[in-house]
Amino acid sequence: MESFNVKTQIYFGDGSLERLSRLNCHKVFIVTDPFMVKSGAIKKITDEVSKGNAKYLVFSDIVPDPSIEVVVKGMELMMKFNAEVVVAIGGGSAIDAAKAICSFSAKVQNKIESSVKANKKIKFIAIPTTSGTGSEVTNFSVITDKSKNIKYPLVSDDLLPDEAILDAELVTTVPNTITGDTGMDVLTHAIEAYVSTQSSDFTDALAEKAIKLVFENLIMAYKNGNDIKARKKMHNASCIAGIAFNNASLGLNHGMAHIIGGKFHVSHGRINAILLPYVIEYNADLKGYNSIDYTVAAKRYSEVAKVIGLPSSNVRQGVKSLIGAINKILRQLDMPTSLKETGIKAEDFKREVVEMASIAIDDRCTQTNPRIPRQEEIVTLLERAFYKN
Ligand code: NAD
Repeated sequence: MESFNVKTQIYFGDGSLERLSRLNCHKVFIVTDPFMVKSGAIKKITDEVSKGNAKYLVFSDIVPDPSIEVVVKGMELMMKFNAEVVVAIGGGSAIDAAKAICSFSAKVQNKIESSVKANKKIKFIAIPTTSGTGSEVTNFSVITDKSKNIKYPLVSDDLLPDEAILDAELVTTVPNTITGDTGMDVLTHAIEAYVSTQSSDFTDALAEKAIKLVFENLIMAYKNGNDIKARKKMHNASCIAGIAFNNASLGLNHGMAHIIGGKFHVSHGRINAILLPYVIEYNADLKGYNSIDYTVAAKRYSEVAKVIGLPSSNVRQGVKSLIGAINKILRQLDMPTSLKETGIKAEDFKREVVEMASIAIDDRCTQTNPRIPRQEEIVTLLERAFYKN
């Protein structure tokens, strides 16, 4: 039996932040990162909350790759404040931290109160300010254990936001490098969901749409951050890809990206982007020239090529043209095309590569990869992506 669901109510388009003035509650806990406060963007949120006569408390300690410690601090503040609604505004880091804060506090609170009254449900609203992770509609939260330098993808339906608000105006301040990184994260989500062992007709439809939107709009958003039409399309693509992978899950690309990000603190989208051509080549596993030689994954990648109008008269050509098109986008985004170019030192990489492969193989995302990898194959893939060979 298979299933598909979208639990999160999505508000989008002009005026969607007005939803925050109609929450019908007294206390709103806002989780965000320091940039939102410094840039004044947070005012758009607090003004709407105030219109609805609710009090608010802003917790703005979230930094990229949020740690267990920051989650615990947020939990303490939120419970003391007695929030009825939690609003996360920021990139994937702020939304993921808020998910963990909400979910863990609910568990603690319910344990304390279970003998006294029924479970209290806190409403959770996610407002993404990057077009990348799709975290506003997923049951994933990626939290970093700084003591071990490992990023853990937590997966539970408790983490799903009740509502998401997509306001592309909030994304116009994203610098072009982050636009590129996060946009490639969207593409990786959609492609991995499409070839996942848990893909279905429902997730395919979403993944195909997200891939098309990225190919049509990412470069425009990168070149001109104020191109609101391209920003809106990328914001939708991010959310659509999020729904796809929330149902189909991801693959080895993310399995490796989590541990590389945990060890070396390079932006998540950038790592995904660098790995993507190598992972496609590995999964497709092109050997012969006859249709019986082609793997299921190779056929799926070739379908992706078809969807975006790339040459794909046979499966081999389809896979190759998809890899070529991704490499072209990387060049247009002025992105490094190897892990080495991101600044990771060769001696550090060599020391960590075997351990990274053994952690990547056990990552939740790797379990739905279309090809089951062996540890030594992951080592080879990591080395290829590091040295660009
Ligand atoms: P991020 O949240 O880490 O933010 C990156 C930088 O962008 C930060 O410095 C932030 O201040 C800045 N920023 C955010 N919005 C901005 C804006 N509007 N204008 C200017 N600057 C802005 O980046 P991200 O790529 O959105 O999130 C990455 C995190 O999400 C990683 O930890 C990754 O593992 C996780 N992730 C989660 C999921 C999920 O489903 N939960 C999926 C993929 C990735």
